[in-house]
Amino acid sequence: MEKHMTVCPYCGAGCKFNLLVENGQVVGAEGLDGITNQGELCLKGMSGYDFINDTKILTPRILHPMIRRTKGAELERVSWDEALDFTAKKLLEIKEKHGADAILTTGSSRGPGNEANYVMQKFTRACIGTNNIDNCARTCHGPSVIGLIDTVGSGAMSVSIPNMENADCIMLFGYNPSASHPIVARRIVKAKERGAKIIVADPRIIETARIADIYMQINNGCNLAFVNAFANVIVSEGLMDKKFVEEHTSGFEAWWETVKNYTPEAVQDITGVDPETLRAAARMYATAGGSIIGWGMGVTQQCQGVHTVHQIAAIACVSGQIGRDNAGLAPVRGQNNVQGSCDMGMWPSLYPGYQKVADPAMRSKFAKAWGVSEDSLSLSEGCKLTDLPHLVKEGKIRAFYNFGEDPLQTEPDSIDMRETLENVEFLISQDIFMTQTTALADVVFPGTSWGEHDGVFSASDRTFQRFTAAVPPKGECKHDWQIFQELSTRMGYPMHYDDTKQIWDEVRELCPSFQGATYEKMAGVGYAQWPIPEVGHPGTPTLYQGGQFNMPDGKALLMTTDWKAPTELPDEEYPLILCTVREVGHYSCRSMTGNCKVLALLADEPGYVTINPADAEKRGIKDQDLVWVHSRRGKVISRAAIDERTNKGTVYMTYQWWIGKCNTLTMHATDPLSGTPEDKHSACQVDAIDDQ
Ligand code: SF4
Repeated sequence: MEKHMTVCPYCGAGCKFNLLVENGQVVGAEGLDGITNQGELCLKGMSGYDFINDTKILTPRILHPMIRRTKGAELERVSWDEALDFTAKKLLEIKEKHGADAILTTGSSRGPGNEANYVMQKFTRACIGTNNIDNCARTCHGPSVIGLIDTVGSGAMSVSIPNMENADCIMLFGYNPSASHPIVARRIVKAKERGAKIIVADPRIIETARIADIYMQINNGCNLAFVNAFANVIVSEGLMDKKFVEEHTSGFEAWWETVKNYTPEAVQDITGVDPETLRAAARMYATAGGSIIGWGMGVTQQCQGVHTVHQIAAIACVSGQIGRDNAGLAPVRGQNNVQGSCDMGMWPSLYPGYQKVADPAMRSKFAKAWGVSEDSLSLSEGCKLTDLPHLVKEGKIRAFYNFGEDPLQTEPDSIDMRETLENVEFLISQDIFMTQTTALADVVFPGTSWGEHDGVFSASDRTFQRFTAAVPPKGECKHDWQIFQELSTRMGYPMHYDDTKQIWDEVRELCPSFQGATYEKMAGVGYAQWPIPEVGHPGTPTLYQGGQFNMPDGKALLMTTDWKAPTELPDEEYPLILCTVREVGHYSCRSMTGNCKVLALLADEPGYVTINPADAEKRGIKDQDLVWVHSRRGKVISRAAIDERTNKGTVYMTYQWWIGKCNTLTMHATDPLSGTPEDKHSACQVDAIDDQ
């Protein structure tokens, strides 16, 4: 049996393991002693490999290129030459007629790796000539990237995953690691066993709440009021680290002008938290030796996501709980390489390595390196993935190049998204499976699967790790970076990389924070944690050591604002709040896990809606009944899962199911600062179905 070293393609925990190969088929996984997993794997890591073998459980692998010659025609199999020529001609026509900014591309935060994403953003900027490039972080941790760049300077975790185990206090806020990052959840359990205090603030009684020293069942949609009150207690009870605030922060006066109004008592109706409990939690957090705040989509997929991240960073700063080992900020990223997509500049305002497109010096540097004129690289920020529906309606986006994502399944208001994808003049989709989005495409490019190519992933805590191919590409599948370079060459901007190492060395050369992350350093179970400015540098597990923030004056900027209510509130017609969540055995749009034998057995269509017993009884609903869930956007059938840990008045659905798709119900309201959809809060109703 052959063994091939890889990194898990599912969550951002970055677990390292061997893929086991027999007779050309991937048949198993065995954990390796990686920096984050130390030999352990969760269910998805252990059982989530066989989609590579084209099991056809949910949908078959795409094994050859296809084009749709005219809208409404069937997709037809063609040669690579024909598919690439067809695409290059159409993109050049659109660019000629409507300008480069009429084209939007989106990178893949899943299996392809950093090298493929780097080449795609280079193709977008240097060949097409636009900054219209984004990735799925827009829909998840976009507010963390923006909120942290605004306040402390780097849009990433300030601590490392192994560090979490050594903290004295861990506060989880809108983050359910047992479902989204089981190996991180395990670190938290180990921290608890060592004596760390655990605080959980979440509307649902999540698994970690069961081991929490303080659990606060906050109201859905209260986040900014909650963190403002938390900050208020830290200052008003004298828990502030005055020296740290004076020496390492700015903006305290303006920040306190807002925070002073948010006593726990004043906002109790909004937060739903008993003031004494909130005060006890703030004391526990601020006085511990080293405290870490972990947060997830419960914070970011809200209309005030960026403001809430500003305040989380401020709380860490005023408490002095940042800039030293085992204390800091942990926005744990969802998809396995979503940190990498951001690292590689799949972001409309940033080149690779978080270098700003608006900075003329950066433009100059990238223009020179890429051999293009400075004028051809735009200084303007591009548009966002979540702008797609309205920009297509307005005729501003004419072509959309979707790489390894499935917006029709994962973005809100899917009826509107379907109309968008059907109406965009030219849709290219590059994927390994015929997803909901790919089925609508005018061009389908078969990329290689994780397990069929080499590269580097970025774990959520800024750790670069290498992964290698276990089996050769299936059918006519090409490496994703090869597809981009062949298309680019046909469009008049030649690219000729021989392998991923050549690409990665170019990334290192252009990004000062990544320079020491050589393939050699990452051999085997090796890794490199950025910033790693030179070969020989050990990497940086903890950011902002000694209170040195990555800001122009070196100081963290304290920021917050007033709370406002979510966009859509429950009413008589739609009296329940709908909140989207994760399913532990499935991942993203389910095209990968739904094609794995073991994982596919875990749950079946049409998914489930989790509901409190009182809300179910009121509607005559029994556990496992089929029910209608409807909102102002649409109606889906689902299965009721009655659960006492679900708070009254709110129902929870996972977005992975093709039948009973909950994004039919969610709405396209976004945080104005990040463009991230408010997936955690919309109004709905659940009705029993008679005659079951
Ligand atoms: Fe994969 Fe995440 Fe599970 Fe680790 S915790 S095995 S990275 S899904």
